[in-house]
Amino acid sequence: MEHKKLIIIGSGPAGYTAAIYSARANLNPLLYEGFFSGPAGGQLMTTTDVENFPGFPEGITGPELMDAFRKQSGKFGTTFLREDVESVDLSNHPFKVIGKKTRYTADALIIATGATAKKLDIPGTREGELWQKGVTACAICDGAMPIFRNKDLYVIGGGDSAVEEATFLTKYAKKVYIVHRRNELRASKIMSQRAINHPKVEILWDSVIVEVKGDKVVGSVIVQNVKTKEEETREAGGVFFAIGHRPNTDFLNEQVEINEQGYLIISKPGTTCTSREGVFAAGDVQDPTYRQAITAAGSGCMAALDAERWLIEKGL
Ligand code: NAP
Repeated sequence: MEHKKLIIIGSGPAGYTAAIYSARANLNPLLYEGFFSGPAGGQLMTTTDVENFPGFPEGITGPELMDAFRKQSGKFGTTFLREDVESVDLSNHPFKVIGKKTRYTADALIIATGATAKKLDIPGTREGELWQKGVTACAICDGAMPIFRNKDLYVIGGGDSAVEEATFLTKYAKKVYIVHRRNELRASKIMSQRAINHPKVEILWDSVIVEVKGDKVVGSVIVQNVKTKEEETREAGGVFFAIGHRPNTDFLNEQVEINEQGYLIISKPGTTCTSREGVFAAGDVQDPTYRQAITAAGSGCMAALDAERWLIEKGL
């Protein structure tokens, strides 16, 4: 089995940034970019305009940004594998990384596999229907797009993300409706109050969206009251899923500590160290709070520096 000093698993802003830093430190990183698990580049590959990544005053598309990240990490000697990691064996050192086709041992690992925004299988919202044509899972990324301006927007969910995203969308929307399946929000009291008191936010309690309709973009939603089963068609310019994220940690098979939501736990605050020495975590896989490209990139840089220092400390 071929040996590598450092293997990075995951190819979003966190993984590519970790690769840029570790390649420049002559660690010759190998980066598993994923294949069936989703496009190389991660969640930004399904985002259109990115207007909040510093350095691009005119904005840049998600795929263009990720292409630039990838090129920059390749320039310094990163080896890429368009392949998913199926499992890892962390019981002994060096660690084993088992890909779909390849197998390696590694002294250090950086896990940057991200998280997947949960979606609901509502008719009209699927890929090939209105997904990314007014239906998205990230208000902060997509909310400022012209198609959402001065429209009635619908946010599905009742947690902190839903109220935060709804409040954010009030900057652009005519009105924002939070569609929540129960009659009480899960979000913290302070955030809930902010949404409840906002003149442009209305909460549709005990409600679900059963269908999204539109020609080229979202035009209307059918909202059902789950108690009365009554349905109502309402004009809509956008639908935002805010029902949580699922960190991509299955392949670790619980060999690294995760919290109850599945996020990797950072064992030493202010670092990227996980419960397993030599295994570092960066990006959304360890971040339930910020989840932005820039914070992911920042933690990718931290993971590369942590890994480099750890390798030196261990004489590896
Ligand atoms: P969350 O707390 O898990 O809330 C998910 C929401 O989606 C819940 O209200 C849930 O309804 C609803 N939901 C889940 N599955 C659904 C389904 N199949 N159909 C309809 N509704 C469904 O997720 P989150 O809001 O993304 O927050 C995740 C974590 O990040 C939390 O710890 C949160 O505090 C934190 N966060 C913090 C901030 C902040 O402090 N600024 C901002 C965002 C997130 P039920 O309530 O009925 O279960």
